[in-house]
Amino acid sequence: MINFTVGPVQSTEEVRKIGAENVPYFRTQEFSEIMFENERLMKKFAFAEENAKVVFLTGSGTASMEAAVMNVLTKNDKALIINGGSFGQRFVNICKIHKIPYYEIKLEAGQNITQKELEEIPNEDFSALLVNANETSTGVHYDLQLLSDFCKEHSMTFIVDAISSFLADIIDMKTMGIDVLMTGSQKALACPPGISVMVLSEKAVNKIYANEVESLYFDLKPALEDAKRGQTPFTPAVGILLQINARLKAIDEAGGVEAEHRKIAALADDFRNKIKGMPFEIFTEALSPAVTPVRPTSAKAYDIFLTLKDEYGIWICPNGGELSDIVFRVGHIGDLTIEDNDKLIEALQDMQKRGLV
Ligand SMILES: *Cc1c(COP(=O)(O)O)cnc(C)c1O
Repeated sequence: MINFTVGPVQSTEEVRKIGAENVPYFRTQEFSEIMFENERLMKKFAFAEENAKVVFLTGSGTASMEAAVMNVLTKNDKALIINGGSFGQRFVNICKIHKIPYYEIKLEAGQNITQKELEEIPNEDFSALLVNANETSTGVHYDLQLLSDFCKEHSMTFIVDAISSFLADIIDMKTMGIDVLMTGSQKALACPPGISVMVLSEKAVNKIYANEVESLYFDLKPALEDAKRGQTPFTPAVGILLQINARLKAIDEAGGVEAEHRKIAALADDFRNKIKGMPFEIFTEALSPAVTPVRPTSAKAYDIFLTLKDEYGIWICPNGGELSDIVFRVGHIGDLTIEDNDKLIEALQDMQKRGLV
């Protein structure tokens, strides 16, 4: 099997070996040291300010999205949400559930945000902006610089779901003024699902301490207190935190986030070049190296996904809902190589000969 989905993705052998071990007890100084190192490397790769803090939540990426809204925002906030697909819609749903006033900028599938959309919003005092760096459902990588400038101009709290973007794109929290940056273990961190990570600016941390949260598990104050000694309030997914540690150290030794970004970008460029001349169009112009959304011009996207999986042992990522017949996505994150790309291209060419593409 070769896995080109956007998560869970393929892990290195080093990471997989840790998954085969017994999970150790964690209320120890040894585990605390690993957590301190995880925090240090996450901050380094997110270009976070020195006073930034990191929370490792046991849950999938959505746990961080919900925790961010619950802990950093209050009913006195007015949130602006960029909604161009199912992950933008998720922020809308979360704000609705937690009764955070919001306004959504609705974008067409595949559309980037521009100055024009920002000029058309109502003239209200928005206090926070929520965006998915990559709207993974359509592969759009939003113009974060534009949004960063907008947040600075209006002194807004800047909350970025970088769950599929972290390590694939270079995102500089400090320069962009990002207050919450989130990722998940099963995306470019290339570990099993189960841990969601939040990097928090000093401003976000202060907001969390000033806020009362009606939840035991999602209240980040005890998590921030325990993190001071390298611990978590509840039993975390200990094994995955050990895998994350191995992975973060391997990235650091191989040249850091810049090198990882270059590796992913090289795989993405290679794939995009190799599909030129095939009956495919790329669904958006605003691309991240993390994923290529592909629109087949003479076959149904979902059928291509099924045939690749069932007859070639290759997994790409199907789309749900309205786009399921129109777009499939090819991820470039995880332990993949140019040779893997070649195998995918060969399979697609073979399907083309069989009239299936
Ligand atoms: C994968 C992903 C998530 C999180 O999804 P989970 O299934 O909860 O891990 C959130 N936002 C984006 C942009 C994603 O790509």
